[in-house]
Amino acid sequence: MIGILGGTFDPIHFGHLRPALDCLQGLSFNEIRMMPLKVAVHRPQPQASTAQRVQMLKAALVDQTDLTLDTRELERSGSSFSYDTLMALRAELGGDIPLCLLLGADAFANFLTWHRPHDILKLAHLVVMARPGDAPIDDALATLLQMHGCAEQAALTAAPAGRILWYSQATQLAISSTQIRQLIAQGFSPRYLLPDAVLALIEREQLYR
Ligand code: ATP
Ligand code: MG
Repeated sequence: MIGILGGTFDPIHFGHLRPALDCLQGLSFNEIRMMPLKVAVHRPQPQASTAQRVQMLKAALVDQTDLTLDTRELERSGSSFSYDTLMALRAELGGDIPLCLLLGADAFANFLTWHRPHDILKLAHLVVMARPGDAPIDDALATLLQMHGCAEQAALTAAPAGRILWYSQATQLAISSTQIRQLIAQGFSPRYLLPDAVLALIEREQLYR
């Protein structure tokens, strides 16, 4: 089973890494791919460049061979949708292997506004990682959970796609990239919220000042 955690990663922090490792170890993943997203032109752009975001991810993932980096969305031209990415992954990996999109509870709260969410569920499962803070579940999302929700990891390995697992065992860390960028902009250190190797890159490149 392969997991995909998409994000801006501006910068990557322990709130991404620890829940991803919890999923890797607690569910039957062979690999979880961190997938930096290209940000659509009409959205606020990341403060770090694409190359810097990739560098920070590489620094964070050193020595953890089952958490990998997949840069396909950065390489594709035009805006990229998770649906297109999953179609490409399916073409590569075949239809049988279970694929899981990992996302934090805040991202899941917006899932029905994504491009072709119901088709995404035909291509992958969703694993929702608990995250501190409000992530209101509206009626439409509650209905989706009723239709696709599952309580056991066995349901994920039993089918290639289509289930939603709310993974409350993921460590809840109240850490966000926004908080880290703000600390640095205010002249404070974000140390202990992210790997030292990532912080060293941020300092070297004078990011987020
Ligand atoms: P920003 O503050 O810039 O939005 P972020 O910390 O939310 O950054 P993203 O790159 O936006 O990080 O998040 C990528 C994915 O990781 C999303 O699915 C998000 O919900 C999840 N995620 C980020 N931080 C956490 C956390 N502390 N706990 C659980 N999931 C998280
Ligand atoms: Mg975010």
